[in-house]
Amino acid sequence: MTAKREDTDLASRFRRLIERHGPMPVSRYMGESNARYYTSRDPLGASGDFTTAPEISQMFGEMIGLWLTDLWARAGKPDCAYVELGPGRGTLATDALRAMASQGLKPAVHLVEGSEALRDVQAGALGGATFHDTIDTLPEDLPLLAVGNEFLDALPIRQLVMTEKGWRERMVALDEDAFVFAAGPSPMDDAVPDAMKDQAVGTVIEACPAAAALAQTLADRLKRQGGAALLIDYGHLQPRTGETLQAIKAHRKVGVFDAPGDMDLTAHVDFAILSQIASGKGLNHASTTQGQWLGALGMGARAQALVTKTPEGAPQIAQAFERLTGADEMGELFKVFAMTPPDWPEGAGFG
Ligand code: SAH
Repeated sequence: MTAKREDTDLASRFRRLIERHGPMPVSRYMGESNARYYTSRDPLGASGDFTTAPEISQMFGEMIGLWLTDLWARAGKPDCAYVELGPGRGTLATDALRAMASQGLKPAVHLVEGSEALRDVQAGALGGATFHDTIDTLPEDLPLLAVGNEFLDALPIRQLVMTEKGWRERMVALDEDAFVFAAGPSPMDDAVPDAMKDQAVGTVIEACPAAAALAQTLADRLKRQGGAALLIDYGHLQPRTGETLQAIKAHRKVGVFDAPGDMDLTAHVDFAILSQIASGKGLNHASTTQGQWLGALGMGARAQALVTKTPEGAPQIAQAFERLTGADEMGELFKVFAMTPPDWPEGAGFG
C-alpha cells in the first residue's frame, strides 16, 4: 500500500494533539502550518511554491514607491519610515526604495517578518533594515509608509459552519488517520453578523481576526503618527459567504490537509472589513482592483519607457504587464486597499 499523503512532522504532531485533546480549530491548524512553512524556506519563485507580483516585474514595486513618494510630497516631505509587512525576498522593497530615492525620499527601513529564513534573504537584498516580529515595535515618532503585498492572506483564518443546530466553529478532526473537517461543540451564532446568519446547512464563513487586529493597530498608529498603509492581496471588496482556504505547493493547488507545514495555506482577504475598520477609526480609505489601480498610476507608460530602454525585453515586459493587470490574471482577483489619517493627503489611483 502506498501512502496518499506526505506525512510531515507537523502532521504527526497534529494527529497526536487531536488524539489527546480532540479536534482543533481551523485557525490553529492554519496558523501553526504557516508558521512552520515560512520559517523553514524561501517559498517564492520558479523553484519554490508560488510567484508574487513583485517577482513578476520591477514595475510593481516601482509603482508602489511612486505612490508613496507622491503622498509624502503632498504631505510636505516629512521624515518617514518605510514599513513592509512580510517582505518575502525584499524585491518589492528594493524596487520601491529605488523609485523613492530617485525622487528624493530616503526613509528608514523597517521590516515586519516572522521567518528567519526570509530575514536572511531580505537582509542580503536591502542592508541596513531593522527587523520586527510584529508591528507593535515599529518606531513611534515618525509617519509610517506601510506596505503589505500578499501578507494578510497568510494569516490564520477562523471558519464557522452552519449545522442543523446553528453556527459552530469549524474544526480539524481525525477519521482513522486522515484529517477531516468537523463542527465544534459550542454554539457560535453570536459570532456571526446578522446579515449573514440565515444560511443553508453546510455553509462556511470565514473571518481573519489577525488581519482585523493588524488593521486596527495600524489605523491607530497612522492617526497618531501620520503616514499611509497600502495592503494588496487577493480577496473580495464585498462581504461574502463560502470557504476560500486553499493550499499551494510547487505552483499547484493541493488539498488543505495534504502536507501541513510543507505547503502554503492561504485564504482570500475580506477587504470589506478593512474598510469598515478604517471608517470606524475615522481614517480616509479606498479600495479597487489591482488592474485598475496600476493602470491609473500609469504603469502602461512605465512599461513603454522600459521597452524603449531595452527593446529586446519587449515581449517579457508585455507579458508581465498582462499578468499584473489582465482581468483573467491578477488584475481583477487582486485588490488594493489604502488608508490615510484625516490630516494626510489621500492616495492616488483610486478614481
Ligand atoms: N510580500 C512578499 C512575500 C509574500 S509571502 C511578496 O509579495 O513577494 C508572505 C510573507 O509574509 C513572507 O515574507 C512570510 O514570511 C511573511 N509572514 C507570513 N506570516 C507572517 C506572520 N504571522 N508574521 C510575520 N510575517 C509573516
